[in-house]
Amino acid sequence: MRQKLVQDGADELNYEIRGIVKKAEILEKLGQTIYWENIGDPIQKRNIFPEWMKEIVSRLLKDNSTYGYCHSKGLPKTREYLAQETNARGGVQISAEDITFFNGLGDAIAKVYQFIVPTSRIMGPSPAYSTHSSAEAAHANHEPLTYRLDPDHSWYPDMDDLYYKVKYNPNVVGILIINPDNPTGMVYPPEILREIVQIAREMDLFIISDEIYNEIYYHTERPLSLAEVIGEVPGIAMKGISKELPWPGARCGWVEYYNRHRDPQFQKLCETLDNAKMIEVCSTKLPQLALPLIKQDPRYRAYREEENQKIGRRSEIIREILGDLEDIRFNVTYGAFYNTIIFKKGTLRPGQFMQIDSPEIAQHVQGWTAPEQLALDQRFVYYLLAAKGVCVVPISSFCSELQGFRVTLLEENESILRETFQRIREGIQEYLSSA
Ligand code: PLP
Repeated sequence: MRQKLVQDGADELNYEIRGIVKKAEILEKLGQTIYWENIGDPIQKRNIFPEWMKEIVSRLLKDNSTYGYCHSKGLPKTREYLAQETNARGGVQISAEDITFFNGLGDAIAKVYQFIVPTSRIMGPSPAYSTHSSAEAAHANHEPLTYRLDPDHSWYPDMDDLYYKVKYNPNVVGILIINPDNPTGMVYPPEILREIVQIAREMDLFIISDEIYNEIYYHTERPLSLAEVIGEVPGIAMKGISKELPWPGARCGWVEYYNRHRDPQFQKLCETLDNAKMIEVCSTKLPQLALPLIKQDPRYRAYREEENQKIGRRSEIIREILGDLEDIRFNVTYGAFYNTIIFKKGTLRPGQFMQIDSPEIAQHVQGWTAPEQLALDQRFVYYLLAAKGVCVVPISSFCSELQGFRVTLLEENESILRETFQRIREGIQEYLSSA
């Protein structure tokens, strides 16, 4: 090429949640049964999209207008419905104009960071859901800026860390929260949310709140949404249907702009996002048609409550199986459907292993674990995959200096769930006692 083609930030695009799949598929072909714990897709874990929701979608498929384009910001009626839903929470008030649909929240996340000037930074949590941290880092051509979630304090944000990092870095223009959180399963307590809003107010920042798991909680009060605490501070809430209906294949998510008129720079970002959508014409229409019909159906609330109870029950089963292991830091979860399990300092060492019976599989693992700079938790994850067939994601790939791995709370079949976590338990014990 006559000129450099790809910007440096491209190196920041890393999605181990999918990356590990390639390795698992190689082992699957060699006869290893794989227990998929890498991705938050309820459907993949045997969850059934309810029959009554399928009927609503089927009826829509019979209507010819379903097949056309829609308004570039999304169907006005659906946006009106969503604005009412937000307004009913009694916090900041919005109209349909403050909502824009995207092709999944992943699409919205990519666009939000893309148009922010590279030197202006959004500080996000660590560990971080990598779609956010990678997109933010790629826009800045620089590694992600993060505040610490503290595994020794229920994964709540370390507020001093956040405050001083924001205060002494004038490039920070915004704070990201993911509530409930992926990958920790933590729910931000109301007082912490209010403190974050106060920091944004004091330092003239905006807030991004990823609320894709807002309806997924158990053993706790309903998580507060940004709209309820933001007051007059500018902010963007990100929402979607991939998890709560659950319909990840619909590729449907939306953003809500709060207090967009209170800051001209923020207003411009919102307008730019809308213009970007206009250039693309519009986002997926079928799920936008279905969304208000499903959520207003009297069966919806009962459905969600039952699903949340099931996730809560799995959270308990996982704690029963792993919670007493001495060498790990195990936190109880309250929302979303993940848990992050951390190895205590010094417990992971090079040279540890699990017994792998197949010589062919052992050879692959030898190759994968050969690079000297390989993170120790990644090494553990490869052995767990090869020896026990369980496919999890190392926490070092979630933009964290901690060593551990993320699991999901999604397996519908209780005996497979127990088997999976028993294998993880055995894997941890075998690996840590091997060297
Ligand atoms: N935000 C968070 C915190 C997620 O965990 C996910 C998917 O796992 C997404 C956004 C992306 O959602 P979507 O399927 O709408 O792209």
